[in-house]
Amino acid sequence: NTRIVLASRPVGEPQRSDFRIESAPIPSISDGQLLLKTRYLSLDPYMRGRMSDAKSYAAPMAVGDVMVGGTVCDVIESREPGFAKGDVVLAFSGWQEYAAADAHHVRKLDPRLGPPRMALGVLGMPGFTAYAGLLAIGKPQPGETVVVAAATGPVGSAVGQIAKIKGARAVGIAGGPEKCAYLAELGFDAAVDHRAPDFVDQLAAAVPDGIDVYFENVGGAVWDAVLPRLNTYARVPVCGLVSQYNLTTRPEGPDRAPALMSHILTKSLTLRGFIQSEFVGAMYADFIGEMSEWIHQGRVQYREDIVDGLENAPEAFIGMLAGRNFGKVVVNVGMA
Ligand code: NDP
Repeated sequence: NTRIVLASRPVGEPQRSDFRIESAPIPSISDGQLLLKTRYLSLDPYMRGRMSDAKSYAAPMAVGDVMVGGTVCDVIESREPGFAKGDVVLAFSGWQEYAAADAHHVRKLDPRLGPPRMALGVLGMPGFTAYAGLLAIGKPQPGETVVVAAATGPVGSAVGQIAKIKGARAVGIAGGPEKCAYLAELGFDAAVDHRAPDFVDQLAAAVPDGIDVYFENVGGAVWDAVLPRLNTYARVPVCGLVSQYNLTTRPEGPDRAPALMSHILTKSLTLRGFIQSEFVGAMYADFIGEMSEWIHQGRVQYREDIVDGLENAPEAFIGMLAGRNFGKVVVNVGMA
């Protein structure tokens, strides 16, 4: 049972040495449990927070713990009625080949909804994050302008495409010309490259009527460019701040808080942070229904960045935080 554990807490950008590959026995299971073999492991930015012991919405991992993560697994053995060998389930079994899981912590996947890997991306937690944050907080109206960064990733790409379905204009911000070209394929009305020297001017040209909804995934320089373009009554679902996850010191420059407060006041802005789990009870069933329909109709497309082999997960994770991924990062664990 190959597994990857947290070897040390990263300082700044995670290093390869912050992870350790170990071999452990295949676990045995007791009543109510399933033995799972991992097919696919999802890599997500929130894992950076769990590696750190800074206070957050979820408890940190301990050094030596198996790295956490959502997985798609085959049931190898079941000691719970209702599950059988051969079932494919969504689990949270982390960066390892085999795991014992309590049956009530996994969800059987419906093969009719498409490839089970989608349950880690467009039809899973990231897709739901986009759906809930945009619809419950952003509330885009027909003709409004919605801007999202990290726009080719699983959250951002869904935000832009759902905004289009709701009749809004979608503007995506992404790193590099290749990612920007892909946004046009997805039907975004404009794409802006945050790595280009004229990023601020590109953004201004892409939002001639200002910004009504800014779905915040990144923070940093992108947020600095967006803030002055927000319209009166703009809504900002604050979903993620990936540009800050590896920072060890405060960003350089003057304290921006007074200017931010002034924008909030004078433009009647709504900034609302959220963790997707708060909306699960109210919105998850609608999400699965609507999203699978949109995927089926071709109105929502998605892209995966598949990494072969569990041993390559650390490099892929480090790369994702730096924007080297192109689409939802999924590790093909079961390939061996
Ligand atoms: P992505 O696959 O989009 O990967 C992160 C992307 O962030 C990179 O590919 C890169 O894209 C972009 N990025 C990295 N650094 C910077 C930077 N300095 N400036 C601008 N962009 C940068 O990730 P996800 O779609 O999985 O997640 C998107 C966001 O949503 C994250 O912030 C994540 O933490 C958050 N999230 C929040 C949840 C919640 O419940 N609140 C749940 C799930 C995700 P590019 O090359 O285009 O710059």
